[in-house]
Amino acid sequence: MKVRIRIETEFGWGERRSHEIGVIERSSIDASEDSLGISLAEGKSILEEVQRAVLQDHVEDISEVERACPHCQAYLRVHDRRKRRVDTLFGRVTVEAPRIRMCMCGLPGLPEFKVGHSPLTRILRDNAIPELRRLQAELGSRHSFREAAHLLNELTPCASQNHATIRNRLASVAKALEERCDEAPTGTGVQSNPSEVPGFLDSAYVRSRPEYQRRNFEVIVGSIESETAEKRRFGLSQMGADRPTEYLRSNLKAAGWMDSVAVTVFSDGDPALPRLVKNATSADVHHALDWWHISVRIRHVETTFQPLLSQIEPDGAAEIAALVERLRWRIWHGQIDRALDALDDLFRFAMRAREYTYRESNDAALSAASRAMVLRTYLCRNLSAIVNYGDRRQQGKAVSTSRAEGLVNEIANVRLGKKQRMRWSPKGAHHVAIVSAAVLDGRLSSGHLAAA
Ligand SMILES: [Zn+2]
Repeated sequence: MKVRIRIETEFGWGERRSHEIGVIERSSIDASEDSLGISLAEGKSILEEVQRAVLQDHVEDISEVERACPHCQAYLRVHDRRKRRVDTLFGRVTVEAPRIRMCMCGLPGLPEFKVGHSPLTRILRDNAIPELRRLQAELGSRHSFREAAHLLNELTPCASQNHATIRNRLASVAKALEERCDEAPTGTGVQSNPSEVPGFLDSAYVRSRPEYQRRNFEVIVGSIESETAEKRRFGLSQMGADRPTEYLRSNLKAAGWMDSVAVTVFSDGDPALPRLVKNATSADVHHALDWWHISVRIRHVETTFQPLLSQIEPDGAAEIAALVERLRWRIWHGQIDRALDALDDLFRFAMRAREYTYRESNDAALSAASRAMVLRTYLCRNLSAIVNYGDRRQQGKAVSTSRAEGLVNEIANVRLGKKQRMRWSPKGAHHVAIVSAAVLDGRLSSGHLAAA
């Protein structure tokens, strides 16, 4: 049998035009399962032909609308037709775009300007339509450039892709996002001044390409969550960005931060991160040690003391168990002095237990002692950044960067992580971090990508 695919355009002025898209032939005598339905190759070729027809007809329809002068209703002349290459997800299409003469009705008495303008040029400033650019960038932020090119080539009839086309597109999309990131916040409703803007910051190390004379460099990831705007995620390389502090500042602004508002930076203790925000905002910046990072270390103390206490039965075990039990509550409520005293007691208890225990119990005592010391050191190093988490939670304020922790994975590790074996230039990593964050936020929609 033969299936003939034909589509019909009905133009705005009533004319109809039909296009032969293709013919699908199937033998029914020796049919096989491979011959059932439309194959990927046939699907791609049909899409490409439909795209060609739709695009060409649409350009003609647009041009025809443009030929009516909005002031005097004169029907304007077509100056000439120019071929224009348009890259789409469904193929590279060359369209004939008419250029239309300017109407002289606003300039009476002057001779006619013998030039034309193309409506297509006004609508489409880049050679590629936004959907293709978005997909190239998004796939490039999730997969290796080669893999992203392969996926597009395999599944769509778009013009042949390779690692360089993907890398360059990702870079140009990243630049567009970087330049536009200080747009008004996307939140809705009345913008009241938030009392504080919490920012969750973390960082990861990326393996550097050898020509940069260093083993690795830092990529900073963050998430800003004010009450007045949508959550905003971002990623950047200070080495790779042209103006890292401006970029950070405009991300804060896009997330609803305003000049006079204080920023609370949650981190795992790295003082460089609040300093960076301070430089970017010149606002009051409070540094808070994030609860999630403390909580993980408390959990280690709890899980190492439990088996130790169940294996040995020394005097005072009940008191030690009570100390362990109250540890989390004390730190949560900002009772750091008492928590540090408790950790001292726990450490001494575990070290004493080492002296009279053997084998498993001895190992358990050692790991309990070391976990208590790790938490103690962590708290002491970050004393000024420990807040009353209980109070903050009760006031509905943020306490934890567990989400930022996920961000390191999503923005920095997926493509830039050390497991990827890939080496990066700071600029390349910066671009990937920008696009990955935009993908997570859903900011890579076509609206944001309208030609750079
Ligand atoms: Zn006119």
